[in-house]
Formats: sequence, C-alpha cells, structure tokens
Amino acid sequence: MSSKEQAPISNSIQQAVEKFREEFKQKSFSGRHSELGKMINCVICSRRHRSAEICLQRFAKNEQGVELIAKGYGHGKGRLHRHWNRRSLQVVDLTRRLIPSYPNGEEDFKKARSRALNLLRKIWHATSQRVQAQQKLSRRINRG
Ligand SMILES: [Zn+2]
Repeated sequence: MSSKEQAPISNSIQQAVEKFREEFKQKSFSGRHSELGKMINCVICSRRHRSAEICLQRFAKNEQGVELIAKGYGHGKGRLHRHWNRRSLQVVDLTRRLIPSYPNGEEDFKKARSRALNLLRKIWHATSQRVQAQQKLSRRINRG
C-alpha cells in the first residue's frame, strides 16, 4: 500500500531533481552559488567584487559623533580637512587594497604602506621616464 503511494511521489521528486540538474548546468556562477551574489562594480570601494560583500561608506565625525556630511561638509560648504594631493591619495588607496594580503591585517599597515610606496614609485618613475623620452623626441624633431 505504501509503495503504491510512494511511487508517484518519488517519481515526481526524481523529475524535479533531473529538472534542477538541467537548469543548474545553464546557470551562471552566481546562479549556482546564490550565497555569493553577482559581481558588481562597487561605487564605494571602487573595486569589482561579489554583491554579498557589503561595503559601508564611512564619514568623518566631529567630537560629538555627528557625521560631518550631515552638517554640509563634503558638499562644497567648507572642508574641515584639506584634500590630499593625487599621489598621497594613490598611496592611501593602494595601502588599503594591500592590507588584506598581510597576515596581521591592519597591524601590518606600515609594511603595506611601504610596499605601496615602492610600487607607486616604480609607476611614477616609469611615467616620468616616458614623458621625458617623448619630450626629448619632440624637441629633436622641432629643432629640425
Ligand atoms: Zn565594495
């Protein structure tokens, strides 16, 4: 009696399993691993990562803990701290990206910063060499 009742159920389950397996082959990586989410271009951390990783924007706060963005700072109404120059910002950005690759995390920030500085100095030097070579060539051409 029970075997007659179970037979159609197990058959429908079997069909559902086969249907799931067929659909599973068609799905993208994020479809197969829905817990990871899709790849997104994150506006906040300016990296490309999975949507499961949630980035929070952190704003500077005053002594009372009030976010300065709420008081108009950062919207062109006067800045508490001046903007950094481009190269300093590059160092900060690269350091933050390198920190996760160090075993002690934030405790190794000095190592990460010096690594970032070394990498960026190579890039800056290569850029200036390229510009100088172009200038040299241009001036030679202009001299005739
Ligand atoms: Zn992010």
